[in-house]
Amino acid sequence: MKKMLIILLAMVMSLSLVACGGDEGVETGGEDTKLIGVAMPTQSAPRWIEDGNNMKNLLEEKGYEVDLQFAEDIVENQISQIENMITKEVDVLIIASIDGEALTDVLSKAAEQGIPVIAYDRLLMNSEHVDYYATFDNFQVGVEQGNYIVDKMGLEDGNGPYNIELFGGSPDDNNAYFFYDGAMSVLQPYIDNGQLVVKSGQMGMDVVSTLRWDAAKAQSRMDNILTAHYTTDKVDIILSPYDPISLGVISSLKGVGYGTEDLPLPLITGQDADIPGVKSIIAREQTQTIFKDTRELAKVAVEMCDAVLTGEEAPVNDTETYDNGVKVVPSYLLAPVSVDIDNYREVLIDSGYYTEEDLGL
Ligand code: BGC
Repeated sequence: MKKMLIILLAMVMSLSLVACGGDEGVETGGEDTKLIGVAMPTQSAPRWIEDGNNMKNLLEEKGYEVDLQFAEDIVENQISQIENMITKEVDVLIIASIDGEALTDVLSKAAEQGIPVIAYDRLLMNSEHVDYYATFDNFQVGVEQGNYIVDKMGLEDGNGPYNIELFGGSPDDNNAYFFYDGAMSVLQPYIDNGQLVVKSGQMGMDVVSTLRWDAAKAQSRMDNILTAHYTTDKVDIILSPYDPISLGVISSLKGVGYGTEDLPLPLITGQDADIPGVKSIIAREQTQTIFKDTRELAKVAVEMCDAVLTGEEAPVNDTETYDNGVKVVPSYLLAPVSVDIDNYREVLIDSGYYTEEDLGL
């Protein structure tokens, strides 16, 4: 009996040693090398490819192994990719969701295995199993877009009335509401006093959103708006939350004759400073975009990853804003930067984010 107890004790001890072994810092190539699961939404937008690659490189430089997956905007793909990562016993999950509300179950499975979770750029909703959130100041993104419109159209000087149409991001992405609300916090007073007129009457995320940020959907919504409301009037401003949506809207506008001296394109905002968007700014079609330095975001996420593995403090600068429905997730918010024809060189090329060649210069 005693012998059996000793054997049992030895087994328990060796088991717990194996379990603890996972927490003893990063060693390249050794048994203790940590595996990090990085789940990205899609490769259809350049920013997510950059995000994924930046993170992979940074994590590998630190000696981690990385399982990087893109889900091509199909929620079920993302769920099974994360399930696979859990089966592979990743040590940390870093997730940029497609549908922030669709991962509650899989996050519970991660929690059962004791795997910490970092929400990347998009908040993971309705789950207590989200340790940290690395993102940009999403409300400020909208404020910057709104301020740009106010400045360029001289709204503070009383100019107008101008016709504006509003586009929102994907309704399953928590960020989209922050972008829209940020922009409307600036624009609403000018709509209320008549300096801005939404001729279509389409306002509010329930009507202006664009499922999965799909540029084709935005383009056909613009087609419909132009046909129904702009046969005699012209549209002066488009609030767009995302460069591909801006380009879709521009195609629609060009289709009915905008883009000439007599009928210039409206002022049109955007987001991400992706290469087609910036090229369009250089060609003086899209007017503005928001640059979010994904190199910095990747750095923050990797620091959070280090922190959850070592038990140290993670970088956090906001503990109030991002309530996911179950808890307020401690967040680090980076600053977005407004970019147009006047500063794109300084912000995008001088910073080394793009080369002239990237932008076809
Ligand atoms: C990101 C934006 C991006 C959009 C579409 C949002 O969650 O914050 O930067 O433009 O998704 O991919």
